[in-house]
Amino acid sequence: MNTAPARRLDPSAAAAPFDVERVRADFPILSRSVHGKPLVFLDSGASAQKPRQVIDAISQCYEAEYANIHRGVYELSAKATEAYEGARARVQRFVNARSASEIVFTKGTTEAINLVATSWGGAFLGEGDEVVLSVMEHHANIVPWQLLRERTGIVLKVVPTDERGAFPLDAYEALVGPRTRLVALTHVSNVLGTVVPIAEVVRIAHASGAKVLIDGAQGVVHQPVDVQALDADFYCFSGHKLYGPSGIGVLYGKEALLAAMPPYQGGGDMIERVTFERTTFAPPPARFEAGTPPIAGTVGLHAALDYVASFDPAAVAAHEHDLLAYATERLGALNSVRLYGTAPGKAAIVSFTMDGVHPHDIGTILDRAGVAVRVGHHCAQPLMDHFDIAGTVRASFGLYNTRGDVDRLIDGLEDVREIFG
Ligand code: PMP
Repeated sequence: MNTAPARRLDPSAAAAPFDVERVRADFPILSRSVHGKPLVFLDSGASAQKPRQVIDAISQCYEAEYANIHRGVYELSAKATEAYEGARARVQRFVNARSASEIVFTKGTTEAINLVATSWGGAFLGEGDEVVLSVMEHHANIVPWQLLRERTGIVLKVVPTDERGAFPLDAYEALVGPRTRLVALTHVSNVLGTVVPIAEVVRIAHASGAKVLIDGAQGVVHQPVDVQALDADFYCFSGHKLYGPSGIGVLYGKEALLAAMPPYQGGGDMIERVTFERTTFAPPPARFEAGTPPIAGTVGLHAALDYVASFDPAAVAAHEHDLLAYATERLGALNSVRLYGTAPGKAAIVSFTMDGVHPHDIGTILDRAGVAVRVGHHCAQPLMDHFDIAGTVRASFGLYNTRGDVDRLIDGLEDVREIFG
C-alpha cells in the first residue's frame, strides 16, 4: 500500500552525492509563485512541504484502499489495518524502538507531551516532585507541565541558556536532584537551532533515578534518532515537520512505562471489555489510541519516513550545514542584523532581528518578495523574555533549500533596509 519512494535505501544510492535539484523536483509546491515571484520556502521548522511520494501515498490510500481499521472483516478494512500497523512498524524501524508496541500514534508532538503529562504525570507525580525543563522549550513542552502542576503541586525547574543559546550541561546537572522525577527537554531548539546533548542529559537524569522525555519535533528532522542508543524514556515528534502530513505524530515510550500508564482518553479501540459497571483496557499502544485515528495520515507518514530514509544522513547533514554556514555568513555581513543562537554544532535554523524594524514588517516585506519566513515568538515566549525581545525572524532550512534561497532572503532584507533607511 505505501508506495515505494523513487530512491530506496541501498548502499550505492546512499553513496551518491546529494542532488538538491532532484529533491526539489519531488516537491510540487516549490514550482509555484507567490506575489508573482518564485516561492522560496524557509519555514520548514513550522511545517515542511510534502514530496510527491507522500502526496501519492495519501491519494492511493483514499482512492483504492480506504476503510476504517481494526473493525471490519472485509478485505478493505483488513488492508487499511495492515497499512496502519505497517506504518507503526516503519516508525519503529525509523527510531530503532525495541518493539512496535512502543509506538503510539498521536496528533503530533503537542498531543504526545500532553498524553505523558496527563497519564504518566497524573499517575506517578505528586506534590513537590520536580520536573526539569529548559528556557528554550516550545510552549508544547511547558504548558502541559503547568497544567499538571495545577493538579498535583509538582515543581518546575528551568535550565537557563547563555549568550550563544547553548545548553549548559553543568547548570542542568546542578538542577537534577533527589526530587527530580522527570527531565523534559527539546532535542533541538525551534528558535535557536541549538542541539541539546541528549545522550548526556539522559545519563545524568538516569543516574538520579529520573525519567526523560525528549521533544523531538525539530530533532528528528535534522539527524537520525536511535531511541535505544539514547535510552530516552519518551521521545515525541510530528509527521508534518518530517515531510509527512499534519494530524499525525508519534509518542515513543519504553514498553514497561507505557504498560503502567492509565488511559489518556476513553473510547473505541482502547478497551478490552466494557460493561456499565467496569471497563478493562487494551494493552499499549491501543490503550492510548481511542477513536478512529488519522488512517491516511499514518500512510503518509510511512511514505515520508521512507522518503527521508532514502537519503544518506551524512549527505543531508553536509547539505544543511552548508546552508547554515552560508546563511550565517551572509546575514552576519549585514549591519544591523543580530543573530540569536550561535551554539556550536547547531541545526539549520537561523533566528535574527534587525535594528529598528519589527519582525512582522520584515516578514511582510519578504513575503512580497516571495520569501516565506516565520516571524514572532515561535511559541517560545520564555526564551524571548530571556533575550528581552518580542520576537525574531526565523529561516529554517529543509532538504530542498539552496544557496540561491539564501541569496533571495538577503536580497529581501536589503529591500527592508532600503524601506526603513
Ligand atoms: N516542540 C517543538 C520544538 C516544536 O518546534 C514544535 C512545533 N513548532 C512543537 C513542539 C509542537 O509540534 P506540533 O505543533 O506539531 O504538535
